[in-house]
Amino acid sequence: MNELIKVDHLHKSYDQNTVLRDINLTINKGEVVVIIGPSGCGKSTFLRCLNGLETIDSGHIEVCGHEVNTTSKEIYKIRQKVGMVFQSYDLFPHKTVIENIILAPLKVQKRNRADAEKEAIELLAKVGLSDKKDYYPRQLSGGQKQRVAIVRALIMHPDVLLFDEVTAALDPEMVHEVLQTMLELAKNGSTMLIVTHEMAFARAVADRIVFFDKGDIVEETGDVKAFFDAPKTERAKNFLKTFTYD
Ligand code: ADP
Ligand code: MG
Repeated sequence: MNELIKVDHLHKSYDQNTVLRDINLTINKGEVVVIIGPSGCGKSTFLRCLNGLETIDSGHIEVCGHEVNTTSKEIYKIRQKVGMVFQSYDLFPHKTVIENIILAPLKVQKRNRADAEKEAIELLAKVGLSDKKDYYPRQLSGGQKQRVAIVRALIMHPDVLLFDEVTAALDPEMVHEVLQTMLELAKNGSTMLIVTHEMAFARAVADRIVFFDKGDIVEETGDVKAFFDAPKTERAKNFLKTFTYD
């Protein structure tokens, strides 16, 4: 199946506040799609809708062939196929790095411990954290914790990875190591939907840029270079002006 995420005419509001207005978006296997847009325009809400963390008012969302509908059992299947990494890493403070990583594989996927530990160690090596497996979260930097959170998503073998401003809470010197990890994933063919304010990274990693503003997709293009060099809409122009990037 080529289309891993299919969103048709999605509408979402909180009380009187319309947050997403007729969103249509398709993400194909192996694509890296980057969503950018001003704070409060609905990016996080959109990602949360994709794995059923929010109810929707109308429209359809299909993920890996399953209809997302918070009242159905399909959600359980979808959450197994969608890995999500947030701005805050939410590691369990009283569990070591490796225990945090293997928790879901053991509980949700019923994998055996030896097998899950072996894979956790391999994944930690890939993100440069081989020596940290027995550390507790408080002993790690923000960038290291965020890489653990990424490993925790990867070990579930998701079909799609969603990233919501994963570097936003990090000190500047930690940002690079996390973005580097995401670039590696992209190079290796992962399907990714990324919300970020790191414009140089967006430009480097994206197959397609989706620009959100006030709950609308204002611009969407596979010509990433053209988008950053000469966006078509005034709204995108004004948004990009607020960033300096190389
Ligand atoms: P972004 O991620 O682009 O900054 P959000 O999706 O977080 O934007 O928020 C979009 C809008 O929805 C904002 O106006 C925000 O205040 C509102 N919003 C988000 N979550 C909730 C919620 N749980 N209840 C009510 N309003 C919310
Ligand atoms: Mg957000």
